[in-house]
Amino acid sequence: MNISIIIPVYNEAQGIEAFIRELLATAVQIQTRWSAKIEFVFIDDGSRDGSADVIRKLDFGPFSSRLFVMSRNFGKEAALTAAMHKVENCDAAIMIDADLEHPPELMEKLIETWQTSDADSVYYYKSDRRSREGLVKSSVSKMFYRLMNFGTNVEIIPDAGDYRLINAKFLDALKNLAENQRFMKGLYSWVGFEQVGLPFAPGERTAGTSNFSAIKLILLALDGLTSFTTAPLRLMMLGGLAISAISILYGLYIVVEALFFPGVPPGIASILTLISLFGGLQLLCLGILGEYVGRALHEAKGRPAYIIREEIEIVTRKPSRSTRSRAKAKPKSTK
Ligand code: UDP
Ligand code: MG
Repeated sequence: MNISIIIPVYNEAQGIEAFIRELLATAVQIQTRWSAKIEFVFIDDGSRDGSADVIRKLDFGPFSSRLFVMSRNFGKEAALTAAMHKVENCDAAIMIDADLEHPPELMEKLIETWQTSDADSVYYYKSDRRSREGLVKSSVSKMFYRLMNFGTNVEIIPDAGDYRLINAKFLDALKNLAENQRFMKGLYSWVGFEQVGLPFAPGERTAGTSNFSAIKLILLALDGLTSFTTAPLRLMMLGGLAISAISILYGLYIVVEALFFPGVPPGIASILTLISLFGGLQLLCLGILGEYVGRALHEAKGRPAYIIREEIEIVTRKPSRSTRSRAKAKPKSTK
């Protein structure tokens, strides 16, 4: 069984060693339990803190490791896509964050579930989001998923993260999607197959802070929306219809008022309110339309989703004779 473990890395130099230590411990377990051949695929997403240098100097023991350095920061979605394109001949690929929020030891359960069911993909979803992220963030994300899933036949699974295992067929399907602005959460759902979700409580970030600020999250949500649903366009049309209907009724009312109740003072205030309301609504609708036009323009340019600057095969250094004998001697001396 060949398993590729995909790790996107962006400015994780501080915490990556602790992560890799845990990852290696789990990899050893997996190797012995399933006699699996494991490979690590790191994607450095244009880090500015020397993450790539830290990774290339580490010792991965019996596991082969490759590191791809991107030419700049392309974002996590692009990093995952790059890694998927580089993975070949594996029975399963596992995506995991490099900050220990996805505890590596939970990988065993992913493989176990995959082996004992007919799932093509097994993913973890965040359980009990509300108590961890607070009411505001969890409600906003709930609203986002509601809007995403409004009127579409491909339901995007709420709270499913990127910690997941995919088999070779699933991987092939993802690789073959041509779009370059990729919203992975949506694509995972779009390709279909049998998928199984397991609940998990994310760990604490080892070092630094999340790379996704509120603004970045909003932009990602917009990307997700415009690439997966045309619901906002439909809402615009329905809203337009409703407002037009109300306006016609209001117009009739004014005519009736003018004809039958002469002498009522003209309502400047109501006219101004209506003008500004419709001005605002029109701008909003133009903006939404613009998002879709922009996305179409982006895809039409056909630029690649990422550019790789350097590919590094991390060669594991065999321990030298002296370190080997020292390593052997150590347990004896402590006894
Ligand atoms: N990441 C990346 N490119 C980016 C931002 C993040 O490759 O532009 C990686 C990051 O190094 C980590 C994972 O994606 O391994 C998740 O990022 P982060 O922890 O910042 O996000 P959160 O956990 O808050 O969703
Ligand atoms: Mg994180």
